[in-house]
Formats: sequence, structure tokens, C-alpha cells
Amino acid sequence: MSNPQVENVVIIGSGPAGYTAAIYAARANLKPVMFEGFQAGGLPGGQLMTTTEVENFPGFPEGITGPQLMDRMKAQAERWGTECYTEDVTYVDLSQRPFTVRSDEREVKAHSLVIATGATAKRLGLPCEGEFWSHGISACAICDGATPIFHGAPLAVVGGGDSAAEEAVYLTKYGDHINLLVRRDELRASKAMQDRVLNNPKITVHWNTEPVDVFGENGRMTGVRVRNTQTGEESDLHVKGLFYAIGHKPNTSLFKGQLELDDVGYIVTKPGSVETNTEGVYAAGDVQDHEFRQAITAAGTGCMAAMLAERWLSTHQLITEYHQQQPSSETPPEAELTEEKTTASPEEVFNIAHTRHEGGYALRKLFHESDRLIMVKYVSPNCGPCHTLKPILNKVVDEFDGKIHFVEIDIDKEREIAENAQVTGTPTVQFFKDKELVQHVQGIKQKSEYRKLIESYLPAGVSATN
Ligand SMILES: Cc1cc2nc3c(=O)[nH]c(=O)nc-3n(C[C@H](O)[C@H](O)[C@H](O)COP(=O)(O)OP(=O)(O)OC[C@H]3O[C@@H](n4cnc5c(N)ncnc54)[C@H](O)[C@@H]3O)c2cc1C
Repeated sequence: MSNPQVENVVIIGSGPAGYTAAIYAARANLKPVMFEGFQAGGLPGGQLMTTTEVENFPGFPEGITGPQLMDRMKAQAERWGTECYTEDVTYVDLSQRPFTVRSDEREVKAHSLVIATGATAKRLGLPCEGEFWSHGISACAICDGATPIFHGAPLAVVGGGDSAAEEAVYLTKYGDHINLLVRRDELRASKAMQDRVLNNPKITVHWNTEPVDVFGENGRMTGVRVRNTQTGEESDLHVKGLFYAIGHKPNTSLFKGQLELDDVGYIVTKPGSVETNTEGVYAAGDVQDHEFRQAITAAGTGCMAAMLAERWLSTHQLITEYHQQQPSSETPPEAELTEEKTTASPEEVFNIAHTRHEGGYALRKLFHESDRLIMVKYVSPNCGPCHTLKPILNKVVDEFDGKIHFVEIDIDKEREIAENAQVTGTPTVQFFKDKELVQHVQGIKQKSEYRKLIESYLPAGVSATN
């Protein structure tokens, strides 16, 4: 698990700050090692994996979706030789040089460090929050809005900033009516977003209103108890979904006691720089920025961090250079940036001998005719975590080629199937054996967990091909 080699630079976090630092460090022949994260502080790819259109990142006049933008950044970082691990860092030691960075899978020593761990969505901590989490409450409208329980239903979003406004507008696509709960008598969102909310007939803004609890029956949320912050009066709002958009907290718990943090937990950097109070350690992006918090500022500070790291390594004669072959100057085709598409299986071409399938027709045929374990992945359009899960499951499915059946269902296109399967969020993976549902897994898990699950349902003596 421990690698005796000392890396030039380790980057923690794979949002715009992390990937930009990686691109610059890799192009400087430093062969950076990146811990992309897995679950600890958001998703690999960062916060933009939970949004739809990004309209203000320069270079994309028609806009680009958050996941597509992050795919492109990752491809660029890898093209120049960044070594990426989709793992959470669980421990760092900055008290001794070289620094130690550890995940559950490996320990790495590094001369310099770029911290780009960003920020995580906050929770309200309502008394019944745990009971209805994923059964009505969600922190990601883009991921969960398309699930059947929210279709045609009254919904609520809590928050007054850009995220809340964006989520409210997005949910009008699925919900019958959206209630935006705003604690104060004004929105903090940008003027453009405010206009979109206030002019949308499907959105009602409840000013001076905060949730105090949620309630429901049979495990499903049916409403929110709200309080007027001016009068203290409480009332019930009957909604089937409550979406949190109440801001973020910086992901800095790993560095407490090792680096200077401010009162709220942001890493303190020198004015106009990304240097922390420890030489050779740089902080970039939202983890050190409570003012701008934009993809472009994160990318800009990521660039600064990589350039300062290189300068510092050079001054201290610590650089090991990794000369690389010139990567092809051609832009990688779009198809290479997104993962291989699941083999389509329209009715005419359905073939039970194939491992991969898509859509309800294939699922029904397999359910009745397959003697293999059937793995069903439910996804929705623009769902960042679904995007993250895709390469993870693709690898696992490849390992069990010919031994299982795999079907992908887009719940936006095939709502009835998702409803029957009781899917309450995406991504969800279900396993069927002999016409019975044997496992239901929501969210993203490590490859090893899916592998173990599959193996437990294979006939004795059958295992992965490699
Ligand atoms: C809904 C939404 C919409 C937005 N829309 C826009 C927009 O249109 N334009 C714009 O400019 N900005 C937008 N933003 C803001 C933008 O997403 C952030 O400013 C930007 O992503 C910050 O980048 P970052 O690299 O600092 O961190 P993040 O994007 O937060 O990424 C942090 C990374 O660190 C990783 N990580 C955390 N902890 C660990 C750990 N222990 N080990 C390893 N890795 C770890 C996470 O997995 C993640 O990959 C939006 C934000 C949200 C939430």
C-alpha cells in the first residue's frame, strides 16, 4: 500500500481547481498524483457534477453541462500524464517532510501538496430528516428531481441563493408546483436568476419562511412544517419533496490543527496568493474562497497553485522530471470523453446472449427469460452521480461479461418502470435473480462492493473473468 517513491506534487480534489492544477503540473513534467475523491466531500468532478448548464465558463458560447465540462478537464489532465485515483483522502500528515497522504487503498509521500477539496452541501438537521432522507428529502434536485415520486407533485426548495433559484426552476420540469422557502425577505441569487424565479408561474416564493420539520406516512414524506421567521407562526405545507440548497461548508476537516483555518473552516491563504501557512502546501478553489466561489476562479487559483508548487520544488531542488511523449495534438473526440455507450437494445436487435442492454423492453424480456443475475441501473439525464457511476459499473460489468445481464433504464423516459421498481433517487442499482429483487443499492459504491454483490449471486465456482 505504501509507495517508497516521493511524488513531486499530490493534488487532493477533482473539481475545476484540482484539474486545472493537474493540467499545469502535468505539463511542467511533474507527473502529479491526484486523489479525485469518492464520497467524502462531494463527487469526483466536484460541485459542477450536480448542475445542468454552465453558461459562464469562457470558451463555451453555447453553454456546456457541468458533467461534460468536468469530463473535458479530466481528459486534459490525463492526456498530460496525471495519475488519478478515485479515492477519498482519509489522512494527511503535514508535520514532517515529505508529507504523507493516505486513502483506504494507498499511502503516498509528496514534497508539495495542492488542496482543492472544495465544499459540501449543508443539511438542515431537522428532527425527522434522517427518516425521510432519500424518501422525499434530497440535496440534489438535478440528481433526484426526475424520480417518479416527484412527478406532478407539489415540491419545496429551501434556500435563497443561486443554487436554490436554479433548483426551483429546474424542478418545474417535473413537479406540479414549486414552493421556494426563503428565510429572509429577499433572495441572494443573482438578478438574472431572481427574474427567472419571480416570473415563473409554477414557483411561489414564501418569504420569511423556514422549515422546522418534515412529516410523512409509510416511510414517504408528505409535508414540511414551516415557521414564519417574523411572527413565529407555524403551519404545514403539503409537499412530496424537499430539496436543500442552503449553501456549502468547506471540506477541511482533514487539515484541522495542521493548517491555519478561518472561523468558518476555510483554509487561510496569503493575500493575493494560494500559499498556506505551510511552505509547499497550496489551497485552491472554494476551499479557500468564500467570496467568488465560481468554476473559473477555482480554475484560476488551481493554476496559481501548480505554478507556485513548481517554483517551490525548483527552488529547493526537489523536482524529479518525468519527460513524456508529446500527446497527440488532436482534440480527443467527444466519444472518448464520455464513457462507452451501453449497447442499445431496441426490440428488433434484442439478443439474450449479449451482456449489456438498454430500456424497458430488454428488461422485461430478461426478467422472464434470463437465467443469469440481472443488474439494472436506473439513471436520469444530467445526474452527476450517474455520470460518476458509469465508468465504475462499466468496468465491473466487463469483468462479468457473459455471466450476468446488465440493463440501463433512463427513468425520465421510462417513468412507469421506475415507479414499479420504487426508485426514489438516481443512480440506483437493483439486482434480480430468478424473477426476484435480491438487492437494491442507492447512490455510488466502490467497485469492490458491486463485485462482491455480484459474486454472491453467481453459481458456485463462477467468478469474474479477470
Ligand atoms: C448547483 C451548482 C451550480 C453551479 N453553477 C455554476 C456555474 O454555472 N458557473 C460557475 O462558475 N460556478 C458554478 N457553481 C460553483 C462551482 O461549482 C464551484 O465554484 C466550483 O466547483 C469550485 O471548484 P473546486 O475545484 O474548488 O471544488 P469542488 O467543485 O467543490 O470540488 C471539490 C473536489 O474535492 C473532492 N474532495 C473533497 N474531499 C476530499 C477528500 N477527503 N479526498 C479526496 N477528494 C476530496 C471532491 O470529491 C471534489 O472532487 C455551481 C455550484 C453549484 C453547487
